[in-house]
Amino acid sequence: MLLNKVFRASLQSGIRLQSSGVTAAKAAAAGHAGAPGFSFELTDQQKEFQQLARRFAREEMIPVAAAYDRSGEYPFPIIKKAWELGLVNGHIPQEYGGLGLSIFDSCLITEELAYACTGMQTAIEANSLGQMPVILAGSDAQKKKYLGRMTEEPLMCAYCVTEPGAGSDVAGIKTRAVKMGDEYVVNGQKMWITNGGKANWYFLLARTEADPKCPASKAFTGFIVDADTPGIQPGRKEMNMGQRCSDTRGITFEDVRIPKENVLITEGAGFKIAMGAFDNTRPPVAAGATGLAQRALDEATNYALERKTFGKAIAEHQAVSFLLAEMAMKVELARMAYQRSAWERDQGRRNTYYASIAKAFAGDIANQVASDAVQIFGGNGFNSEYPVEKLMRDAKIYQIYEGTAQIQRLIIAREHLGRFQK
Ligand SMILES: Cc1cc2nc3c(=O)[nH]c(=O)nc-3n(C[C@H](O)[C@H](O)[C@H](O)COP(=O)(O)OP(=O)(O)OC[C@H]3O[C@@H](n4cnc5c(N)ncnc54)[C@H](O)[C@@H]3O)c2cc1C
Repeated sequence: MLLNKVFRASLQSGIRLQSSGVTAAKAAAAGHAGAPGFSFELTDQQKEFQQLARRFAREEMIPVAAAYDRSGEYPFPIIKKAWELGLVNGHIPQEYGGLGLSIFDSCLITEELAYACTGMQTAIEANSLGQMPVILAGSDAQKKKYLGRMTEEPLMCAYCVTEPGAGSDVAGIKTRAVKMGDEYVVNGQKMWITNGGKANWYFLLARTEADPKCPASKAFTGFIVDADTPGIQPGRKEMNMGQRCSDTRGITFEDVRIPKENVLITEGAGFKIAMGAFDNTRPPVAAGATGLAQRALDEATNYALERKTFGKAIAEHQAVSFLLAEMAMKVELARMAYQRSAWERDQGRRNTYYASIAKAFAGDIANQVASDAVQIFGGNGFNSEYPVEKLMRDAKIYQIYEGTAQIQRLIIAREHLGRFQK
């Protein structure tokens, strides 16, 4: 059904996807991923997806991005249109109504959307993060119920793990789930949950083992929770530095009863499920950071070619052109890093090392490149009438969510040293 919608909507928007193109996307991706040798060439279908996302980003998102940033309003009309075009939830498997896109293909779309507005892209990406534990660990019945409904209407979901007292140290979370008959009763407080007030359901991580000495790998359980379950109370929308139209909230769970059918895999398996999702979701986060950096580079380049000082365009001053060259190097390398990390995962290999490199590098360079873009704009860069000020504010979160820049380095160091210590 969604495929028809995508095809129809694509035609309406003037972008022609071959009638077999979207359903063939998975095969195309597999073809790309499985192609012998080494190639930077995208398949025709991948180019079509990229073009579709690019056109949507530039025609639908960019014109309204500044207004959403100012108001902080949730960009649901944009998300709905993106959903109709198949630009949201692309990785939901075909058997549950989705497109079954590879991580690589999803990343191509993410980079394009992020180019326009990472506030909107984060709201969209939070669906992937919320869904990933279900895709990786859900039963057939759970997938049908919770992924299936997201392909039938433009619903949001959320990944509900961080708490006021524990973010990086996930094993420190305090939310408790206690088994009572056929249900679990949950009490606790979550914080910084993207789509927190908009989600139809949550992936929730809670502690099920009372013994503080129990290892994290056995102490926590992952649940799917309908957002309208009594006892769930989302807090106020947080006013963040950037990505301001994304909905971030604390959520209180008070005597929330979850049926045991909503446990992912089994009691005690939650920590690995919650952490395992990141191998699939960090490549798209890195792709988002790359999209933002590319936008900053493009804006700065156009400005540098127009703005004149001392009788010539500032791009002709070597200091500025070298700055642009540094920015370009960073953007290209961030793109290669996210593509490698996505490709490794699509090959069915453990990509933790590459995913953390991509996430750390792209997050860092998004901040550097956005800051350099502000520099190239001079005084105008500091002003909200110009787009780069928003890019600089929006970039910061890429060094914080889905594992901070420091936590990525811990992972990279562990993975790297592990290869030597075997
Ligand atoms: C806008 C936004 C959206 C978010 N969305 C979600 C979401 O959808 N779902 C969700 O579950 N969470 C979400 N988060 C939470 C986010 O993942 C955490 O904020 C992040 O993991 C950091 O945790 P913390 O804020 O508790 O910082 P802390 O863990 O307290 O870290 C504070 C500082 O100490 C550093 N640090 C911590 N431990 C170490 C160490 N061992 N070595 C070196 N340095 C260390 C960190 O890198 C950081 O610089 C979101 C956060 C924000 C701000």
